[in-house]
Amino acid sequence: MKIVPIFFPNAGCRRKCTFCNEWMATMKSSPKSVKDEIYKAYEFYHGNENSELALYGGTFTAIENWEEILIESYRCVEELGMRGIRLSTRPDEVRNVDFLKANGVVNVEIGAQSMCQDVLDASKRDHTVEDVRKAVKILKDAGIGVSVHLMTGLPEDTKSKSLFSSFEVANLRPNGVRIHPTLVLKKTELEREYLAGHYVPQSIEEASDWVSDMIAIFLNGRIVIERIGMYQDEETLKNVVGGPFHPAFGEIARSALYRKYLILTEAKRVFGPPNLRSQIVGRNRDLDLEFLPSKEIAVDGKDCKITFNKWLLEYVHSLKEMARCDL
Ligand code: SF4
Repeated sequence: MKIVPIFFPNAGCRRKCTFCNEWMATMKSSPKSVKDEIYKAYEFYHGNENSELALYGGTFTAIENWEEILIESYRCVEELGMRGIRLSTRPDEVRNVDFLKANGVVNVEIGAQSMCQDVLDASKRDHTVEDVRKAVKILKDAGIGVSVHLMTGLPEDTKSKSLFSSFEVANLRPNGVRIHPTLVLKKTELEREYLAGHYVPQSIEEASDWVSDMIAIFLNGRIVIERIGMYQDEETLKNVVGGPFHPAFGEIARSALYRKYLILTEAKRVFGPPNLRSQIVGRNRDLDLEFLPSKEIAVDGKDCKITFNKWLLEYVHSLKEMARCDL
């Protein structure tokens, strides 16, 4: 499935979360003509019948005339023969789901960011953890797909809280998740905190350690991981003043999980699909392991063969002990 995005930066947001500035993140402004913008994006992103139009960048269902925009967008989606619409919104602004469904919405992306109230409050999210649970339920009951966004490294966040949030979200059984380590963007409250020395962003090593364990939880829960790490092009990267940005962050985090698998099982040889070779051994070259093509990921461990899935089950069980959130 391909995504054809158009952006409404911070449109519908009642107030700004401390880490957010969608103008800085996208360098775009809300479209003057929604129809023109959709047709331009369709061409630019090579849309087809398998693409979804994405209405991103703000709190879509709180934009003053969002119903009008949605009707117009759906008309374009039908003209272009795309498969549907996805949109992003806050958990406390999920509303009118029958209208969403009747107008081509197949997926709603909920910005949860954390399932720990103190982390949400520290970023002035101004919604509750319960709002996330309710939003996911309302959408699922209406038969609309749900993706949940989580962030790591926000003020007050810890590894235990990120793991806790991941288990909580996995229990809600969304269709997909997106995981974004926090980047410090220009013209945000977080930037001011960072420049004053009150906020210390994660390093790439720390973020990939946390995110690799979050990946383990979602893989084990059979929940699709739609994206890891924020997309930034050359232009928008200039607006990132701190934080664990790397263009291949997703690959790094996945490799970090395989590294834990290889080390903890004391692997001698590793088997796996050739398309995963770079993730499994490419970035873990220092472990000097022989890679043999196979459908299933497995290692010749100390005493026996250990499949990745079997290891993952036990590993995720051990992460449960670390997952904590003092509410
Ligand atoms: S994180 Fe979402 S809700 Fe918060 S300001 Fe940004 S777009 Fe708006």
